[in-house]
Amino acid sequence: MTDGTGSHYEVIVIGAGVAGIYQIKRLTDLGVNAAVLDAAADLGGTWYWNRYPGARFDSESYTYGYSFSEELLNEWHWKERFSGQPENLRYLNYVADKFDLRKFMQFNCKVEAAHFDEADNVWRLTLDDGRRMTCHFIILAVGLLSTPTLPRLEGMDSFKGRSFHTYYWPHQPVELAGRKVAVIGTGATAIQIIAEIADKVGELTVFQRRPNWSAPLNNGPISDLEMADIRARYGDIFAACARTPSGFEHEPDRRGFYDVTREQRLALWDRLYDEPGFGIWLSNFREIFMDEAANAEFSEYIANRIRQRVKNPAVAEKLIPRDHGFGVQRVPLETRYLEAYNRSNVHLVDISETPIEKITEAGLRTTARDYDFDIIVYATGFDAITGSFDRIDIRGVGGETLFDKWREGPSTFLGMLVHGFPNLLMPTGPQSGSASTNFPRGIETGVNWCTDLLQHMWKRGYIRAEATPEAEQSWTAHVTKMYAIMLMRKAKSWFTGYNSNVAGHEHGKVRYFVYNGGAPKYVAKINDAAANGYDGIVLTPDSRSSSRTPLRTTAQV
Ligand code: NAP
Repeated sequence: MTDGTGSHYEVIVIGAGVAGIYQIKRLTDLGVNAAVLDAAADLGGTWYWNRYPGARFDSESYTYGYSFSEELLNEWHWKERFSGQPENLRYLNYVADKFDLRKFMQFNCKVEAAHFDEADNVWRLTLDDGRRMTCHFIILAVGLLSTPTLPRLEGMDSFKGRSFHTYYWPHQPVELAGRKVAVIGTGATAIQIIAEIADKVGELTVFQRRPNWSAPLNNGPISDLEMADIRARYGDIFAACARTPSGFEHEPDRRGFYDVTREQRLALWDRLYDEPGFGIWLSNFREIFMDEAANAEFSEYIANRIRQRVKNPAVAEKLIPRDHGFGVQRVPLETRYLEAYNRSNVHLVDISETPIEKITEAGLRTTARDYDFDIIVYATGFDAITGSFDRIDIRGVGGETLFDKWREGPSTFLGMLVHGFPNLLMPTGPQSGSASTNFPRGIETGVNWCTDLLQHMWKRGYIRAEATPEAEQSWTAHVTKMYAIMLMRKAKSWFTGYNSNVAGHEHGKVRYFVYNGGAPKYVAKINDAAANGYDGIVLTPDSRSSSRTPLRTTAQV
């Protein structure tokens, strides 16, 4: 069936990033008639867009790659423990080419609207160039941090130099030598850029509203010998990731914070601070996440590290967060970030004291003075989790929009289905397990579960899947309840839906965006639902016994 003006697919996947690439691999392996659409000019999602200097994983590279193909695991050599953006994009291209997936992808395809047509049981899509498509199932693999947001400042168009959000860092090299550069923001992105460009620019001025806790990445190369060892251990590595709440190899310290002495705590922290990756956050005592006093003691430990690394005591104090403890917001990992402030060409401006009033032709004006710049970098973050869903006009049964349904915050079943929006699947949706874990590990879980559901339907002749309202309410209540025990519920961060640049998201109203129960619990819950005949989902048989086939070929799903 088509609408006469475009193309019809059994499944349309929106987004050709890490999730979309794996999703189309699973579907086309089954012979399903499927396509991936992406607004970008090429594949890669996050790693296509974020080309700013210093962009790299803070997941260990070998835990970030796909685990589905032994051959791929054996072929690919990660060169660094935490690999950089160019290499990451090369990897995704390698995967797409190796498995011949490009032929299923269509680029420069921005989906503006997706409306469910109940009579025909199809989704009708409209692209921004006016093209139309239909599909039975729509899979949103749109990313969690893919809608960048800019400050709402007067004069932003008047600036005569170059300015861009980090997400849109130009594809052509940006001349930095001798330039006066401003970076606005001090989140994970800014922390990577600042450290990387401090010694490459003329002058660098950082405009900080709230400092962020950070810790050293401790990156390093991976030799041929180490890579051979990693290859031999891939089975154990992925098994460890599946066991931990965070989907990393880093396991929490199971000792009680108060059961060990202060000296033992310090010994653990000294060790973790010098180790690569997220150990400092995820291999710490579990009380750090839930107990104010434990968190305060650890935060003071990190504050002292800042005081040791930053020479100017006044600057060091400005870099220490006062409004939240370590780890209750997403922790950025850094490489000589703090040392950047020891350089004479790097300046820190505290805009909580002297706010930015406007962007000017020459630079910007704070309440204290005017600054001249050649380049302004907005490292101001994203309309996280629901932002990319909100920007597509998605309408379900009876014309209800997903935007309206989620206006006060998302509600989902397992983070993967929404009542009122049949045949719409989200392998990494709001309230799923992926945002709070090592993302690719969560992606594989979500994609496999969605694909299994589709296979279940195709085999049994079901044509429609919709979460029940009760199942959705119960899942959302469960997700909400788990925030109650976490200190992070108080943080002004994207985990709680805070974004000062998005109308309605400014005031710290908590949006229950992520599943906090940890990866093993999440996987157990979604597997239970599947094992119980997709309990919580109404599956409708095809009463018309039509001759429709989901297949592109004569293969069996
Ligand atoms: P972010 O963590 O949301 O940080 C945005 C920064 O911009 C904050 O410092 C914020 O200050 C500031 N800001 C926003 N609006 C502003 C305004 N109007 N005026 C002044 N300052 C403003 O965003 P991000 O750094 O892009 O990171 C987002 C997430 O992406 C990270 O948490 C992480 O999950 C992911 N990420 C991952 C990596 C990696 O894997 N290595 C690297 C980069 C990013 P306030 O805090 O005061 O709002």
